Amino acid sequence: MQGHKAQGAQGQLDMEGALTARDRVGIQDFVLLDTHTSETAFLGNLKKRFSEDLIYTYIGTLLVSVNPYKELDIYSKKQMDIYMGVNFFELPPHIYALADNAYHTMMAEANNHFILISGESGAGKTEASKKILQYYAVSCPSTTLLDSVRDRMLVSNPVLEAFGNAKTLKNDNSSRFGKYMDIQFDIQGDAVGGHILSYLLEKSRVVHQNHGERNFHIFYQLVEGGEEDLLHQLGLESNCQHYSYLVQDECANVTSINDKNDWKTVRNALSVIDFDESDIQHLFGIIASVLHLGNVQFEADSKGYATLNKNTELRWVSTLLGINVQVLQEGLTYRKIEAKTDEVLSPFTVDHAIYARNALAKAIYGRTFTWLVNKINDSMENKEPSRKTVIGLLDIYGFEVFYVNSFEQFCINYCNEKLQQLFIQLTLKSEQEEYEAEGIGWEPVQFFNNKIICDLVEEKHRGIISVLDEECLRPGEATDFTFLEKLEEKMGSHPHFITHKLSDKKIRKTLDRGDFRLLHYAGEVTYCVVGKVSHGLSLLWSIIHVYLTDKLQFKSSLLGLTDILMSKEPWYVRCLKSNESKQPGRFDDVLVRHQVKYLGLMEHLRVRRAGFAYRRRYELFLQRYKPLCPATWPHWRGVAAEGVEVLVQHLGYLPDEYKMGRTKIFIRHPRTLFATEDAFEV
Ligand code: ATP
Ligand code: MG
Repeated sequence: MQGHKAQGAQGQLDMEGALTARDRVGIQDFVLLDTHTSETAFLGNLKKRFSEDLIYTYIGTLLVSVNPYKELDIYSKKQMDIYMGVNFFELPPHIYALADNAYHTMMAEANNHFILISGESGAGKTEASKKILQYYAVSCPSTTLLDSVRDRMLVSNPVLEAFGNAKTLKNDNSSRFGKYMDIQFDIQGDAVGGHILSYLLEKSRVVHQNHGERNFHIFYQLVEGGEEDLLHQLGLESNCQHYSYLVQDECANVTSINDKNDWKTVRNALSVIDFDESDIQHLFGIIASVLHLGNVQFEADSKGYATLNKNTELRWVSTLLGINVQVLQEGLTYRKIEAKTDEVLSPFTVDHAIYARNALAKAIYGRTFTWLVNKINDSMENKEPSRKTVIGLLDIYGFEVFYVNSFEQFCINYCNEKLQQLFIQLTLKSEQEEYEAEGIGWEPVQFFNNKIICDLVEEKHRGIISVLDEECLRPGEATDFTFLEKLEEKMGSHPHFITHKLSDKKIRKTLDRGDFRLLHYAGEVTYCVVGKVSHGLSLLWSIIHVYLTDKLQFKSSLLGLTDILMSKEPWYVRCLKSNESKQPGRFDDVLVRHQVKYLGLMEHLRVRRAGFAYRRRYELFLQRYKPLCPATWPHWRGVAAEGVEVLVQHLGYLPDEYKMGRTKIFIRHPRTLFATEDAFEV
């Protein structure tokens, strides 16, 4: 933890200074909240701080952030400088303090870390992750050679947001994909490279948006902001109203979004990450082809089969994608059946042709997104073989509940369940198990373990996904209703599956509603299976299609992600949404209380308060601090645990401040350790 030295005027603000101001600004670390740890006191403290624009509060080293929905003057370069290299608890809570602490711990211990940013849609995860990245890019040591890598890391954000974010009812800039980004540091602590993994882009948005929502930002940016020449080459009109994929819900304009300006930002960003003019032509050619494809209309001929009424749009698609127009037309209006040596063309109905057109648009967009992520990764890659450590940033789409929830919401919410499970495992569960294993006296804290919900979704042979698997293996026989019936039959009595089954007679009626309901850790969600979502086509049909191409991969990539995270040291940012109407400064007690509950913040606080902020294996502790005591320096010849005991006695640790476990020393407050660190400087 070299370099830990308080700097700047605010560096003088010690713990007492913060405490004297508590009536006005509340307590900056919930662990220090001296009244009983009730939810009401917890919320009161959050609210008091929020009213003073203090959006950050700690629970030990976990950072709670409440979305202010207004620009605060706390992210300047000056602020970054104040937080650089300063002990975590010496300054008011800040996302920079957490970023800095993770960085210095990584440097001191030469290991990998990750920052898990969670919270529901609109709570501020993406903003938090951007602030962290900016902090590393701006405040880590620099050489001119590395500046280009940093610029690329920074501009990857606007590019991916343009292609992967959209306005939803919950958030004007909602992430519609999951993002995990490794920031790589070399041995000197320079940020030298980056790598992004993306998860399950919500591709259905390309062809359909719910009431009051928009398609991905990039479409509007291109149409509204694209230069005349470019639009001409792409055969586009500079008017969103012209494109059926963009006007389904008459919501092209959102006051918080300036598509024209954002277009300029994205164009600049693309040139920073090495896109040359021909890449840019290709990229926007593909984006334009999706818009043209959306305008391709079919009519029924006398037998009810799909025909194209005019094919100007199709010609544009064919030119932009470089596909023969005849081949494209056949692909959209016929199914090819291969029979031994022959190929038979079976014509589509209009509904099927629309389905095929939309499937093509989604596939094109999805692949372009993957290509874009790969391209960005190439530009941020560091090819030096030298040793590197990483800090991973995880920012996924948050838990969400809409009036109509489709299979996409099911995946998003399942993903959030998995992350909550990871949080529980790493904090509440493993923390308590460790005390037990180390023989530290401990009053267990009860908590809700959402593993039961993860199992309901993913358990082999029994979970919802396996029911879906089974149905996928019965083409022709399986329907939306057989799927729902099976769910009722298998899950009906599960405490988190809200059954429709009131009596045998009623089951038929409720199945007619075509949905199933789950009680998630964050609330109840009704998932619509039939009709509404897919415009009259059987959803199972589309689920099977999407599922086979994407979701199997999704489940395994989620498991892969869990492995990636489990091998690193965790840090947590828990984002809370202050109100549903995106209003600056409004703190909705009921809404915040609900999030505090389901995120398990009270339980986390209880474990933290009763527990020990810091623990280290005896050997490592001794290795680091033995110069501070004549009896242990330069060598301690006996058992490490005894050496540590001698060392901490010498340093004057009070009996209540630490405990000796079987293999580790446990230290209650971080300040004890900071004092020990500071002893190096005396
Ligand atoms: P989703 O799960 O939908 O992607 P999210 O948690 O990533 O949601 P953000 O996009 O980060 O949410 O935040 C939503 C909006 O809230 C931002 O566009 C911004 O207007 C506001 N906001 C969030 N955090 C802050 C902050 N620290 N300061 C000011 N405004 C903020
Ligand atoms: Mg987001």
